[in-house]
Amino acid sequence: MNIWRGEYMKGQKQKKAHLILSLALSIPVLTLLSCQSIDRSIEADSVLVNGKIITVDAKDRIAQAVAIKAGKIISVGTTKNIKRMTGPETQVIDLKGLTATPGLIDSHLHFDGSTLLYALDLNYPRVKRIPDMVELVKGKVAALKPGEWVVGAGWDEGKIEEHRYVYAQDIDPATPDNPGWFAPGMGHYGLANSSALKLAKITKETPDPPGGKIDRFPDGTPTGILKETAMGLVTRLIPPLTKEQTKNALIRMIEEFNKNGMTAGKDGGIDLAKWNLYQDLQAEDKLHVRMFVLWFGGRTLDGLQKVADRVGPFSKPYLSTGDDRLISGGIKLWFDGSGGGRTAWVYKEWNINFKDVDTGNYGFTAIEPEAFRKMVKICHDLGLHVAVHAIGDRAIDWTLDTFDLVLKENPIHGLRHSIIHCNIPTDRAIELMVEMQRKYDAGIPELQAPFMWDIGDTYAGNFGPERCLRFMPLKTYLEKKIIWGGGSDWDVTPFEAKYGIWASMTRRPMMGTYGEYPYGTEQGVDVRSALRSYTIWNARQLFLEDKVGSIEVGKYADIAVWDKDLYSIPTDEIKEMECQLTLVEGKIVYTKPNTRIVVSPKS
Ligand SMILES: [Zn+2]
Repeated sequence: MNIWRGEYMKGQKQKKAHLILSLALSIPVLTLLSCQSIDRSIEADSVLVNGKIITVDAKDRIAQAVAIKAGKIISVGTTKNIKRMTGPETQVIDLKGLTATPGLIDSHLHFDGSTLLYALDLNYPRVKRIPDMVELVKGKVAALKPGEWVVGAGWDEGKIEEHRYVYAQDIDPATPDNPGWFAPGMGHYGLANSSALKLAKITKETPDPPGGKIDRFPDGTPTGILKETAMGLVTRLIPPLTKEQTKNALIRMIEEFNKNGMTAGKDGGIDLAKWNLYQDLQAEDKLHVRMFVLWFGGRTLDGLQKVADRVGPFSKPYLSTGDDRLISGGIKLWFDGSGGGRTAWVYKEWNINFKDVDTGNYGFTAIEPEAFRKMVKICHDLGLHVAVHAIGDRAIDWTLDTFDLVLKENPIHGLRHSIIHCNIPTDRAIELMVEMQRKYDAGIPELQAPFMWDIGDTYAGNFGPERCLRFMPLKTYLEKKIIWGGGSDWDVTPFEAKYGIWASMTRRPMMGTYGEYPYGTEQGVDVRSALRSYTIWNARQLFLEDKVGSIEVGKYADIAVWDKDLYSIPTDEIKEMECQLTLVEGKIVYTKPNTRIVVSPKS
């Protein structure tokens, strides 16, 4: 065990404190420290004491206490030494033996709480079979006027007893007079009831839109399931949320994040309206998370050029991350489909029910591949960080080859171009990542281990036995020194990073429909690596690795305290950990009611 109980300093800004504490490293001058610690210049604003501090520093050292001043960590060490930095004004946070980690970070999610606030919850175990869903929808519709939309989210055909899509004909009896849209947890497809299909004028004769698919029965009748861009035929008819509603949803999301020890994220694909909303919240001092945003680059060269021209000048995080709270970070491109909808671009036909073959279905790209190549080049040549959604092996290869091409033509180091999801990389893709990360600091997977858990049954059924075994090969990444970022893709899977840490280790789907370990266990990683992928490695993907992601002197005090010590509990308990206290920039943003932590005086 790498238990460290000394005192260390790095990058200390206050020279006086640095001098005194450096001296304090040798025992004979301890008395000097105890005298000098009441000097106001090193009196901490707050201290965390009597804890187990998992620092996630380069050596993953463990400390007992932390001192904070002006939002930043000024010392990490033993309780005894840190207590010397308290004065009459210092807030003392007694952790009573609990474990603290750096605030957890998500490198790819859609930061929005609107499904939490406004959609009918159709998640398992509320929906265990289709009749459960029908009942819930019926209850919701009873409160609506005829013609009003009913919107639900969270159902998963991999978790319901029927193990098939829910169709319009299943739900129609509950919604005779209301159009309805019911999105599964994993996004990329959804269910429209017959009245919604009618409003959208979708019939047997309607052709599939480019980049989308209208699911049909053998006679051509739409089933109600719409995939990828075809969803837009219906979703554009749903009345949008008001600005007020959207803002409330964002505030709710921030609260939920903090409640779960999360302090930063990378929002994958925003528009101007959302940027403005973030700015409003920041101005009102309500943005209690660090948010690194990617602008949605659209699907055409023209559209991309416009976005890049507009945001390019202020989206260079390697030059500046501004106030480190709201960061305009780069461009997101959406290259292929999804694993849930069997629409991602793959070399071998998709599977159904694990071993059957979805004959003729190789998925598709959302952007024409040659146009995509040009789009990446435009961003790269403008010096913009590009994050590409690529799930299928063929799409990942194409994406990495594209990165390779633009980097060789114009070798800019440090743009950290990433592959969002990166589900089933080929051996060649892995070698490209090794080379690209080393040479250019690019080619970083931003992946979501909870895909193997929360939607892991549906996913296993679609990817099939062979592909599952090379799904998110984290152990191989470790062996080859490939760094990755962990995430949730919320609201595809729950955003709480503890699930991602657990899933990175266990690779176990929720229901076990296709066996307990369809993804194998060989590619699972240890808890320390899993934690790094949700802290310091993610901080890198937010270009904030010198500022957050570990508990070290000079960094912001973004810290989470837990009821359990994830380094010593049985793996399955990691999923049950509960956050007790969250600090963002030294400020308490969440305290669990009835926690045993004692804060005095209370802030
Ligand atoms: Zn996403």
